[in-house]
Amino acid sequence: MKILSGYIEVAVALPVFHTFTYIVPEPFKDHAAPGTRILVPFGRRRVTGYIFGPSRNSDQKELKPILDVLDEQPLFPPGMVPFFRWIADYYKYPIGQVVKNALPGGLNVYEYSLITLTEQGRRAHKSEQLSPVAKIVLNQLLAGPCRLSKLYKKIDQKIPATLLYNFEQSGWITRKWELKRASTKARLERFIRLGDTSLPVDRLSKPRQKIIELLKNENEIAVNKVKAVVPTAAALIKPLESAGYLTIEHKRVYRDPFGEPIKPDVAPALNREQQRAVSHACQYLNEGYHPFLLNGVTGSGKTEVYMQVAAEVLKKGRLVLVLVPEIALITQIERRFRARFGECVCVLHSGLSAGERYDQWTRILLGEATVAIGARSAIFAPFGNLGVIIVDEEHDASYKQEGTLRYNARDLAVVRAKQNECIVILGSATPSIQSYYNVTTNKFAELTLSKRVEARHLPDIRIVDLRQTRDARGIQRFITSELQAAMKETLDRGEQVLLFLNRRGYASFPVCGACGEAMRCKYCDITLTLHQRSNAYRCHYCGYSRAATSSCDICGSAKIKHLGLGTEKLEDSLTALFKNARVARMDRDTTSRKGSIIKILKGVKNNSTDILVGTQMVAKGHDFPNITLVGIICADLSLSFPDFRAGERTFQLLAQVAGRAGRGDRPGRVILQTYNPEHFCISAARNQDFNSFYQQEISFRQALAYPPFTRMIQLKISGKDPHETEKHANLIGDHCHNLKINHSAHYQSLKIMGPIEASLTRIAGRYRWQILLKDSNAGALHQFINQLRSECHSDFSHRRIQVAIDVDPVFLM
Ligand code: ADP
Ligand code: ZN
Ligand code: ZN
Repeated sequence: MKILSGYIEVAVALPVFHTFTYIVPEPFKDHAAPGTRILVPFGRRRVTGYIFGPSRNSDQKELKPILDVLDEQPLFPPGMVPFFRWIADYYKYPIGQVVKNALPGGLNVYEYSLITLTEQGRRAHKSEQLSPVAKIVLNQLLAGPCRLSKLYKKIDQKIPATLLYNFEQSGWITRKWELKRASTKARLERFIRLGDTSLPVDRLSKPRQKIIELLKNENEIAVNKVKAVVPTAAALIKPLESAGYLTIEHKRVYRDPFGEPIKPDVAPALNREQQRAVSHACQYLNEGYHPFLLNGVTGSGKTEVYMQVAAEVLKKGRLVLVLVPEIALITQIERRFRARFGECVCVLHSGLSAGERYDQWTRILLGEATVAIGARSAIFAPFGNLGVIIVDEEHDASYKQEGTLRYNARDLAVVRAKQNECIVILGSATPSIQSYYNVTTNKFAELTLSKRVEARHLPDIRIVDLRQTRDARGIQRFITSELQAAMKETLDRGEQVLLFLNRRGYASFPVCGACGEAMRCKYCDITLTLHQRSNAYRCHYCGYSRAATSSCDICGSAKIKHLGLGTEKLEDSLTALFKNARVARMDRDTTSRKGSIIKILKGVKNNSTDILVGTQMVAKGHDFPNITLVGIICADLSLSFPDFRAGERTFQLLAQVAGRAGRGDRPGRVILQTYNPEHFCISAARNQDFNSFYQQEISFRQALAYPPFTRMIQLKISGKDPHETEKHANLIGDHCHNLKINHSAHYQSLKIMGPIEASLTRIAGRYRWQILLKDSNAGALHQFINQLRSECHSDFSHRRIQVAIDVDPVFLM
């Protein structure tokens, strides 16, 4: 560990874009290492900072000493600092908040200002002379002390800065700075050890004797374990310690995120294609940065390739990071990796509690975990000496983080591998257009697995035209006679069926039977979905819900027709069609509780489920050997999205779902129901023909100058007031156009599209506008946005209108 003294470079957890220099005073000299968190003064506040290293910039005017060192050990290795810098720069995000985002949650110490109404203020609030906004603020404070940030949030209008100042001066309010301490801590557990063995035991009570007896057999025992044998142990241990019989020690323990023990397995012999892929990749293990695209059809044994490359990496003393798109998948891959590699595997994802996440993080830092598996945020796993980064199902859109720091973990994997000088393997049966394009331009090397393992056949896919059943009533419209017959045959043979429908809930389109209006979300421009199990209408964008007994907002009629098919309704109608079949459903609603995914997967694995109904969750990576029929209820749901990637996503989804069939010894088949049988995405998916799909799609992208031929940045402008938002969007739009005109030579190829109203005009009460910037020259595009932001800084940090910069956007609506 490198100890720093003198001047250090610090990123603070605030929305500022550069780092700062601080002084390390004498008492902290031995503790201020790169990667540790510290408490620093910043303006009038104290905030968390992260030490990056010795300061490179000593011309900062005012230098202040740090106030405290918050960690005994660094939370990330110094090698991650360039990674953080790259992210902040590329995704236009404040550097300290990049670090904050990367670290496990709940670790931050920050200061907030608490505002309390005084007795005087209480009296003053009745005064007639107050301005309307002053009245609102005082009214809010009557309810009790309030944090400043909460006050801003609760009061939906501008609070003049002078107002609070004047209140304070008049003695109406007091302002107190309070420090919020970290909520996540290491867990300590009590252990006992045998003390003085010469003390007489026979005069002790029976339970006490039992405790001493236990200790004689073991070196040390956790008190919790003793309690299982001697229930009153907790009360007996202290007196025994005082008398010298034993010693008590507090030791750090790790919260266990793993469900149950797993039987170890041994690596199977690889087939020739797998062998070739593994040795090709491993050839470059100590040769610096080498990116690969593992293009392998579903069921071709990609996971086995990952594991054998990982084994080679571990042999060389280097570390392994595996990214998977969803928690639902982690459980499977995690089990396979743990069966192979045992205790050195750790998992990182948002399904863990804050404490568990912190513990897993620490295991990596201490070198106890050498393989980490996780969802997108695991790209920040604090590894020093990475040997390989694996991104499974690299095409998956869930690698893109929306909301705060808008990064793409798949792209970051490539960046991190470059910085770490190691190999990176992006794997998929349906590679993204972007990644395959990188193969054709020789940026990535391709590893191919063209056949399923053990010569299993790809499933036979039949297309059924849904237009034939347009006039059918009820469920017959969606379970066509072909599908129903195939299901019956499959079930009769004792095999399993998977039904895919990419829409959860009971009815996705509730409509008033009297006036014909759809039931809409109060806060979004979207229809509600009926969730019968939870007796509510829900909005899938903002979480708004209302009782299932609600009546029409427009005419008050209680007669609501539940149109639109969701997984819940599908599940219900199946129990009517196939009386004896055991049906399970896997979607976000049935998997929110911890352990529920494992339970559903287990049901499929041990054949206590006959039909599995699910959303895209079931499409991803699962390996169910006894599923021989896959029914795709409606293949078109994602095709009509106003998004240039709609075709790509549809193809991927269909090919992936189809790939769940016939993974065991028996051949599989797929029935694909669609309203667009002629569409090239559908026919390419039918033929499992990635190449023909790619050829069509890439020429379409080229013709319209879409990625990968251009890069995009989208400005997402949103606010609660429709007029103010529109005005601000136009203002930013003007800035864009002016900047381009003023530097026309430099930004020649840059295209500005918009501002336009987003196709989802409102989400969670916020009105949404967009500006799309497109350029074949990535450097110029980034320079443009940097210049724009620095020249119009205040318009990018407006209090009520959010202007988010989305680099390489995925969610364009
Ligand atoms: P993919 O990830 O490409 O869809 P998997 O890695 O899940 O495929 O492999 C499919 C199945 O084949 C798994 O049950 C796996 O254990 C098995 N398998 C993979 N490689 C081999 C091999 N070389 N020999 C025997 N079985 C294998
Ligand atoms: Zn109505
Ligand atoms: Zn909503």
